[in-house]
Amino acid sequence: MINIILFGPPGSGKGTQAEFIIKQHALIHISTGDIFRKNIAQKTKLGKLASEFMNKGELVPDKLTIDLLESEIDNYSDANGFVFDGFPRTLAQADAFKNFLNGKKIPLSAVISLEVGEHELVSRLLKRGIDSGREDDKNTDIIRQRIQVYEKQTSILKTYYSNNLENNFFPINGERSIDIISEDIMQILSNY
Ligand code: ADP
Repeated sequence: MINIILFGPPGSGKGTQAEFIIKQHALIHISTGDIFRKNIAQKTKLGKLASEFMNKGELVPDKLTIDLLESEIDNYSDANGFVFDGFPRTLAQADAFKNFLNGKKIPLSAVISLEVGEHELVSRLLKRGIDSGREDDKNTDIIRQRIQVYEKQTSILKTYYSNNLENNFFPINGERSIDIISEDIMQILSNY
């Protein structure tokens, strides 16, 4: 089994790279943001609740997110492995995730961290807002808020994983072309 966390700020290219990885290694892509958006589109109770946080650029509460993620994993009992995109985003999520994976004897193989500066993030997200129509990508204040939330609550997980996983934590420059970044990731994953 290969299980990878694709880590990075909003707009760093996690979703794009996740698509390449799942094809190459036949893995399941789990994006908490996508699951929330699906729930919003289907007007579920969870979607209604999540949208209140997402529209403000805040994180959805931990308990809700962790429960959702765990039940999603449980849907794929015979998977080759997973690419987690947008999860974990807080220390509480990372701790709960660790316990959950340990309990299921699912190993965490690698954390790949896409490093992109704020200026580039804002411009990518505004462009995505035009192309995809995603509400939280249309407004510069909400985008900056999301980047701040990342800095305050999420970026600490880089230290967490570089301490916990040691040689399996890979920071990579996410400001290069999509293809070059994919090649880097393929190279890293060829060792697993
Ligand atoms: P991006 O990485 O561009 O912000 P995502 O689709 O990953 O896009 O996330 C969109 C929004 O969904 C986040 O701003 C947040 O409100 C919510 N969200 C996604 N994943 C999580 C998570 N693990 N914990 C809490 N909120 C989350």
